[in-house]
Amino acid sequence: MRKPLNDIRGIVFDLDGTLYVSPSFATAIQDAAADCIARIKSIEPGEAGRLLADTRKRMIEERDEIPTLSAVCSELGGNVRDLHTYFASCLQPEDHLARDPRVITLLENLSKSRALYLFTNNNTALTNRIIGYLGLNGLFRRIYTINDSWKGKPDEDMLDRILAESGLLPSQALFVGDRYDVDLRLPEQRGCPVYLSQSIEQLLRLEELLKA
Ligand SMILES: [Mg+2]
Repeated sequence: MRKPLNDIRGIVFDLDGTLYVSPSFATAIQDAAADCIARIKSIEPGEAGRLLADTRKRMIEERDEIPTLSAVCSELGGNVRDLHTYFASCLQPEDHLARDPRVITLLENLSKSRALYLFTNNNTALTNRIIGYLGLNGLFRRIYTINDSWKGKPDEDMLDRILAESGLLPSQALFVGDRYDVDLRLPEQRGCPVYLSQSIEQLLRLEELLKA
């Protein structure tokens, strides 16, 4: 937390890895991406998985930041829309997630005094299933997914759009996410307060931090 939190009017949450943490679902997403690349390139899924890992490593070295899965798949010739159509058809978040009443209570409490937004690189179909399963329906004033731009965070245009549509000044919009490069770097550069949360325990601390 690098900026004062006394004027926060809105909170923009990332979804995956932030409002829930599930290593097995994260693995299922990576496996599905490898399957998708395997189909595009007519190679075995195992080879596609290694190709994804090698490409990610090369992109990290070249760009000095961790690329999103969409960016890695695009680099390999995949189309982001096709990738997400495939994800929506084969991924079963319900098999991996568990509803956490503490997270529901946290968001219910925060929503009483602040507007909550969701901004995720996941697609609309899976996002709706995930937030429904987690019991978070109706808590967000607006949900932004990769379907809005097909670019994925970090995306300056989407950041501008969220700030404009929410009517929040940068200093009033707290961004919460589990990946600094993806979720937080750009908002922080714009002047938004940011909070890195990589576990539910860290997420739950938000309520105390905002009270202080
Ligand atoms: Mg995330």
